[in-house]
Amino acid sequence: MRVTVLGAGVVGVTSAWYLAAAGHEVTVIERQPGPALETSYANGGQISVSHAEPWANPAAWRQILRWLGREDAPLLWRLRADPAQWLWGLRFLRECSPSRTRANIAAIVRLGLSSREALRALRRELALDYDQLERGILHFYTDPRAFEHAVQQAAVMREFGCERVPLATAECLATEPALAASTLPIVGGTYTATDESGDARRFTEVLAQRAAARGVRFRYGESVRALERENGRLARVRLASGEVLAPELTVLALGSYAPLLLRPLGVRLPVYPAKGYSATLTLPAGLAAAAPTVSLTDDEARLVFSRLGERLRVAGTAEFIGYDLELNPARCDALMRRTRALFPALANVRQIDFWSGLRPATPSNVPLICGLREAGLAGLWLNAGHGTLGWTLACGSAQLLAEQIAGRDAGIDPAPYHL
Ligand SMILES: Cc1cc2nc3c(=O)[nH]c(=O)nc-3n(C[C@H](O)[C@H](O)[C@H](O)COP(=O)(O)OP(=O)(O)OC[C@H]3O[C@@H](n4cnc5c(N)ncnc54)[C@H](O)[C@@H]3O)c2cc1C
Repeated sequence: MRVTVLGAGVVGVTSAWYLAAAGHEVTVIERQPGPALETSYANGGQISVSHAEPWANPAAWRQILRWLGREDAPLLWRLRADPAQWLWGLRFLRECSPSRTRANIAAIVRLGLSSREALRALRRELALDYDQLERGILHFYTDPRAFEHAVQQAAVMREFGCERVPLATAECLATEPALAASTLPIVGGTYTATDESGDARRFTEVLAQRAAARGVRFRYGESVRALERENGRLARVRLASGEVLAPELTVLALGSYAPLLLRPLGVRLPVYPAKGYSATLTLPAGLAAAAPTVSLTDDEARLVFSRLGERLRVAGTAEFIGYDLELNPARCDALMRRTRALFPALANVRQIDFWSGLRPATPSNVPLICGLREAGLAGLWLNAGHGTLGWTLACGSAQLLAEQIAGRDAGIDPAPYHL
């Protein structure tokens, strides 16, 4: 079939790869001059099945209220006169019940495990190099109550097959010696040896090159203006240039922007942008040992740390502020304050590049990987809403998409990822 994939972030490019591998003739439309130049550009770098606990959980609303109005809060809800934000917020509250949280963790872990396997297989097949490290992910805690909660969450994840195990302080420091210099107390952690890290942007660029070499056509600098329906199916894709495409099948992989194209067709996608920040520190040779090489998660500050060659990526925090990408100095400072408190020697790093991106968040953090026939849009498929875990879930989501399109059993139940 002639398939058009809209969007060349990590989700769009992996979709294009698996669809081409399934024998389709694939074209990718992307408004930027290259792949991974929006949310997939400078994320936290973690392939973290162990990060499956969604923001929506029984403790979430208490935390959000505590942080409300604090400019440097790890999770900041800025109330706006935006019905989409309010509707999303109400759905988020519904997902905070213990039973919904458990179901969402199960769905995320299942897809995460299959995605990590798919990524490894692809890496082997194509000999990909994207500053990856297979050193596991350590979640560490400075507050005993947060550690206690993490131990319970780790037990839930082990039930679903993610081997996240508790570690005492000394074991945390043995796992990542750079933490020994921390001015904050490390009271314990959980470690997932099978998780990994790597640069999502480089991966996406390299995979796009390999896909192009196998015949996928990439059309950069082309913006999609509208989708048009006729007789219960997606009939046309209208570009800003005025050109009109009529693919047999279309995949919407536009991240946070997917709802904007569906809204005029009466489909309200529960995806809202959750703005996050990152800082990329270029490490001079003398400071290389002061920075971690095991990928770290600081749940209390909502930050992750990934070593990408001679760089350290610090990323995280969330702000619900609509489609705004401006860098807020207070939030950049908070990110660096925490980094220097944990790794004091990094106060001497001079080159720091700040960035912000919009996570395409669903209220449950479970992505949407499904056809839209029932919404009167046969021929249109969705691969969007990957929120905090788009890099972790990209390969598995693309594989699940391609298998569903082929009408084959993907090895995991697709129902939790349907609209
Ligand atoms: C601070 C931060 C840290 C993160 N850390 C991690 C992490 O450690 N691990 C992890 O797994 N995930 C992480 N994520 C999440 C992950 O980065 C995202 O889930 C993922 O990048 C989403 O990919 P995507 O392809 O869906 O979206 P995008 O990368 O945004 O791709 C969508 C593409 O669509 C294009 N587009 C949009 N509208 C149009 C249009 N009208 N016409 C043409 N093209 C269009 C855009 O240009 C873009 O290239 C993090 C995110 C942030 C912000």
